Amino acid sequence: MKFKGIMVICDGMGDRPHPGHGGKTPLEAAETPFMDRLADQGIVGFMDVISPGIPPGSDVAHLSLFGYDPYEYYTGRGGFEAVGAGLTLSPGDVAFRCNFASVKEDFTVMDRRAGRIREEAEKMVPAIREIKLDVEGLTYEFHHTVEHRGVLVLHGDNLSRQVSDTDPHKVGERVLRSAPLEEGVAAERTAEALNQFTLKSYEVLRNHPVNLNRIKQGKPPANIILSRGAGTLPKLQPIPQKYGVKASAIAAVALVRGVCKVVGMDLIDVPSATGGLDTDYSAKAEAALRSLKENDLTILHVKATDVASHDGDFEMKRHVIEKIDDMVGTIFRNVKGSDVYVAVTADHTTPVTVRDHTGDPVPFLLWGPGTLRSGVGRFCERTARNGNAGRIRGPDLIHELMNYMGFSQKFGF
Ligand code: ZN
Ligand code: ZN
Repeated sequence: MKFKGIMVICDGMGDRPHPGHGGKTPLEAAETPFMDRLADQGIVGFMDVISPGIPPGSDVAHLSLFGYDPYEYYTGRGGFEAVGAGLTLSPGDVAFRCNFASVKEDFTVMDRRAGRIREEAEKMVPAIREIKLDVEGLTYEFHHTVEHRGVLVLHGDNLSRQVSDTDPHKVGERVLRSAPLEEGVAAERTAEALNQFTLKSYEVLRNHPVNLNRIKQGKPPANIILSRGAGTLPKLQPIPQKYGVKASAIAAVALVRGVCKVVGMDLIDVPSATGGLDTDYSAKAEAALRSLKENDLTILHVKATDVASHDGDFEMKRHVIEKIDDMVGTIFRNVKGSDVYVAVTADHTTPVTVRDHTGDPVPFLLWGPGTLRSGVGRFCERTARNGNAGRIRGPDLIHELMNYMGFSQKFGF
């Protein structure tokens, strides 16, 4: 028998006890009747998404949650970002995440987001695409994505992702020269191309009419493109072949969409799902339920928990978790009594006190026919530590799900 499954991934939901909130985590402070019920009736445990004490980036974490050891398969952030933005990458291409930024004449960075420029950035793309790079056999593509962000893809033979960023990641510092991070001509060519692109972006943007107008209005000009996070497509066996399942994903942010696409999931667009705090939770749940008609596995990613965490906003995080619980409730009401498994977890811990990803384990639950009742009562970091599933690693959860769904391959005779 084959069954279906939904994996809900709440970005950065894991947290630490908060001294200002009676030592509770946001998940403990939130009212979560549905997750509590699934946790109580199903199996509960905690998970080192990468390895104990290693803080994961969201891209690395999702690779791991989908069953791919990131130490073997991670090839940098830029590739996932580009695919998530809708670009097609070929093997060998190197992609970068870019910012429209403001620099002084001596290339000191004044604003890494050019005053959070939005639509005006798009108007400058044609000028950027006029840039000619003098590196043999190499072409490029540049796209504006959202707000101040863009993607640069270098096409050609003999390129390498082992090059450093031009983005200094800090205001008040000079734009960096990209340098090869490994021996050989590939990394040298890639760094050279990126340096030419960066310098020429300043030449075409500094007196661009959009910028002259912005300066007149007292806004910072978007006069350079800064790049970071060089990445390529990882070579991996996609989910449909790896597990024999048809899989789909509902995710709003480009990076997570990129990882889902690269591992062979169909992306489902939910127009009202924004990736922000105002996302439409019930529309996401309904889209997930609909997509199960044609898919074996659906991933439902929610970014808002991580957004509230980076803002250090405990109350907002609690509120988002309660919204997620409503979403889980919608799923529960529709699948109870059927043969659908539901897993809920986080891709990493982002404590509101730290405002960044940490390497603490995350809680998870797995509920469905035949799962052993944990009896933990509540779903939170503390009960997860005393749960009945013990401590697992990131790739184990999807394996456990596949096992219950009837898609696991027997090892041996
Ligand atoms: Zn994340
Ligand atoms: Zn984050």
